[in-house]
Amino acid sequence: MLHLLCVPAGSSASEFFFTKAMQREYGRTMLVASSTNLVQKARMRGVNAVNFDYLANEVLRQRGRARVRRISRRAQELIVGNILQSLQEKGRLPYFAKLVGKKGFLRSVTSLLDQLGSCGVTPDEIANAFLHWDGRSGAYRQKDQETAELYREYIRYLIEHNVHDVAGMYRLAAEELKTDDALPWDTLFFMGFYQFDAWQLAILRSLSRLCDVWVALPYEAGRPDLYGATEFTYGDLMQQAVLEHIELPAPGRIASLQHLIKTLRSAEAKPVPADAGIEIWQTDDRIEEMRTVLRDIKQLLRKQNVKAEEVAVVVRRMEDYSGLRALCDEYGIPAQLRGSASLAANPVFRCIVLLLSSIPLHGREKAESWSDLLTQPLQRIALGLPIQTAAEMAKVHYYTDYKTFLTDVIRKTDCSALQTMWEAVEEIEPEATVQEYCEKVLGIISATELKGKAGKLYKEGKITLAGFKNIACAQDALTSLLQNLPQEYLAGGCEHKIITCADFTEALTEEAEKVSLTLQPENQEGIAVLSAVNLEEAAFKQVYVLGLREYEFPRFKNESWIYSDSERADLAALGVALPSSADGYREDIRFFGNACAAASERLVLTFFTDEDQGVSPYIAEVESLFTDLKIQIKKPERESNTSLSRVELELALARTGQTAFLQQLTEGSAEAGSSDRKRIENTAGWNGNLADPALQSLVGQQIGNRFSASKLETYRGCPFQFLVSYVWQQQPMEEAEEDMDSMQRGSLLHEVLEIFISRHLRETLQAARWEELWQELDTIFSNTWHAFAEQGRLYAGDFWEHDQEQLRLLLRQWLRKEIYYSETGAMRPISTEREFGRGADQLLLEIEGRQIFLNGKIDRIDQAGNAFYITDYKSGQVPKKAEFLDTNLQLPLYILAADRLVAAKEGGAVIGGGYYAMKDGERKESFLFADARDKSLPWQTYSEMTDADGTKIPVTNITVLQDELKQVLGDTLRSMEQGNFQPAPSGGCDAYCPAAKICRCRLLKPDQDGEEGHE
Ligand code: SF4
Repeated sequence: MLHLLCVPAGSSASEFFFTKAMQREYGRTMLVASSTNLVQKARMRGVNAVNFDYLANEVLRQRGRARVRRISRRAQELIVGNILQSLQEKGRLPYFAKLVGKKGFLRSVTSLLDQLGSCGVTPDEIANAFLHWDGRSGAYRQKDQETAELYREYIRYLIEHNVHDVAGMYRLAAEELKTDDALPWDTLFFMGFYQFDAWQLAILRSLSRLCDVWVALPYEAGRPDLYGATEFTYGDLMQQAVLEHIELPAPGRIASLQHLIKTLRSAEAKPVPADAGIEIWQTDDRIEEMRTVLRDIKQLLRKQNVKAEEVAVVVRRMEDYSGLRALCDEYGIPAQLRGSASLAANPVFRCIVLLLSSIPLHGREKAESWSDLLTQPLQRIALGLPIQTAAEMAKVHYYTDYKTFLTDVIRKTDCSALQTMWEAVEEIEPEATVQEYCEKVLGIISATELKGKAGKLYKEGKITLAGFKNIACAQDALTSLLQNLPQEYLAGGCEHKIITCADFTEALTEEAEKVSLTLQPENQEGIAVLSAVNLEEAAFKQVYVLGLREYEFPRFKNESWIYSDSERADLAALGVALPSSADGYREDIRFFGNACAAASERLVLTFFTDEDQGVSPYIAEVESLFTDLKIQIKKPERESNTSLSRVELELALARTGQTAFLQQLTEGSAEAGSSDRKRIENTAGWNGNLADPALQSLVGQQIGNRFSASKLETYRGCPFQFLVSYVWQQQPMEEAEEDMDSMQRGSLLHEVLEIFISRHLRETLQAARWEELWQELDTIFSNTWHAFAEQGRLYAGDFWEHDQEQLRLLLRQWLRKEIYYSETGAMRPISTEREFGRGADQLLLEIEGRQIFLNGKIDRIDQAGNAFYITDYKSGQVPKKAEFLDTNLQLPLYILAADRLVAAKEGGAVIGGGYYAMKDGERKESFLFADARDKSLPWQTYSEMTDADGTKIPVTNITVLQDELKQVLGDTLRSMEQGNFQPAPSGGCDAYCPAAKICRCRLLKPDQDGEEGHE
């Protein structure tokens, strides 16, 4: 029989189930729980507890199907990749044709097939649903047909090869349960789940024919908005279940918290006065948010108002709060928080990636790659190599042959381990099977005996225990990954597939990103640090919920672009219930409700806002439930006498200029000091101040001698942003968002204008041909827009049409102006998207004895007689004339490149260059050499640069420009060589700065009133 127990918010079924389970014989009952925490909690009470996967496996084992092969996500992707390729070759994927081969598409299709599997539809059923889907256009019908075929082929592969994905394993278990053979259990309890997928529901139904099944489901009939994620499961179970009316125990709660959990998302909620049980805090940034919370906890623990185990810190995603572990340690707060890091970020793994990256390279690039590999600090241990010597050799000699470089290094350092590794690396082919690659890499790892060497160094006290563990854990995890990867390819039918070394490296890196290395043992006592997704049945006295920010909690999820939410709604009506992005929001309100319900005495909700993200809508919802609940603005602690950690004390002393005391305090413990204090004082090694010559040299190598205009401009715009972007190589993630950002807009416009102009080189555009020209431009725009959308570079959301119309207007405006310039001036476009810096088009500058190579792409070059003019299209802000030859290096650099590489070859000269401001539809901030002022151009120009004092200096010709440019570049390179990478935004912070979340510039730079910078 199936018993359904609805658990209202704030109540718990665990005691009821535990008691019932304990009254029966141990092996005859089993409790199936949704999380490891709940499984552990039940086992601590002596209950036989497992998770759902274990149950499905156990059912199969009981039915004699012990050898079911379950495949991993990677194997699934390999299978789907093969199917896509095979259907593509047969010409059966005209709709998806352009996307096949793209990684993002492969992931999206695999996830769609997974979703189809989980909702329990067969290939015939999905094909039938597509057939009855009214109102589909021809193209969409083609998409449906291709999706149905992909699903059919995928299922066929699984059946033929007798392998199973998760849905397949559940389906098999459900089918095995259709027979009446007895099970070993009398009673099964299911707890902590708020929804089940189609196959899990089928298993529950079948089990309930054979034994007593009790399901505890969080549900209240009167609050559909709070239980949206549970509604479907409730409706399904209710078709068979007996609804059990049992009074479940609820922990005693302070009045405000009782009110909150009883009225959240309730239509009848009436606000009441708040009490001390609920607070909302706003802080300046994430670090201050964590510090404020931990300060509060520390004060409570000190006063012994609460025990550490009675406190929980809850966040939506642990990745967003990776600094919590270190901060708990700083405040001396015991925490049940695992210290972990991804294998992909480990130095051992990084060395293997560098080694593999060198395989397909040649000449100078290969020599540089080996130099990168040999200067990794880990090589001191792995190869016993003096890496400084290798670095010096790479610096003083311009190696174009890696063999010469390695021979020189081995001769100079006498490093036989390097000789052995070199020989092993030479055996790796640029193309091979995954099995072959894995074997070779395993051979290299084993030959270096890294773990043994690290262990010896630890025993000799030369490295710390943490350092040894870091290396040992990474080596073990990497070895296991290399042993398992060929199995995944075997299950995916790709064991004989020959892939490139680059593809193997990418696959290995992707898998390594999923492997977490535990660096510190989990503390079983102390405050709990938990993810909000894992809080079913959790109970604490005090709960702090952090990160209540827009898009973070509730977490923003993009709509699927293969089947949008509205298409999914249509499919649901046809019996195919695929999850939509709205389901994510329904889940998140459950997570938030659980976090609130976990607190019995005090709940603190915290957030910070910035330019990108405002406050979470949950904050307004909670505020509306109380008449007088106010947001408290929390400021960083700045007084030394109230500091709660050594770091806070040092920071307070540094801020108030008490340097003598500070020196006493920090003497002999330089590394234990405060990071923020060190940032404020610009301490060597902190805040982008790289004082160590060895580090400067390594960073110099990483920067190299190749520069683009934007690389140079980034340094002049903010050196710390440069360090993070070009040395740490962190790039801001660009996701397809619903409305276009300026980068998407920029690339789209560039592509449209490139196509149009390249068709009209050397032509005069006439107003008389307006209709024809506009039609042509508009068609190019529509085609390009479509191509961007298909490649997933645009997102077909609500603002799609609005964005498209806006851009069309900009292009109309541009064409009108272009025709005007063409009819009133003599300049005609002769080239578009002209690249320089490669092959014969090298642009070399000799700066203070150092050779640097410049590269870039000039959007457009115009010509009138022997005069040339360069143009850059800008969809955002256009650099001001005062920035010319200061932070704006692009224009002077491109003028120089076009002069040397294009104009000079035709016996002409570049007379200037400027911008097309796309949002204004006209040329702006255009430069013209002072000597060329007699050349008439139909747009406004300037001819001077502005020095540091604001004095205007005429730039007469290309020689003056080149001298000035060399001067600026000389200053820039010198500053880099001296290790100056401090955060110093010259014209405000870049909206896309990848360092924005770590540089702390805004917080640490006091404003004129001595207050913290705060917006
Ligand atoms: S956020 Fe601003 S100060 Fe910090 S690195 Fe980026 S640009 Fe520089």
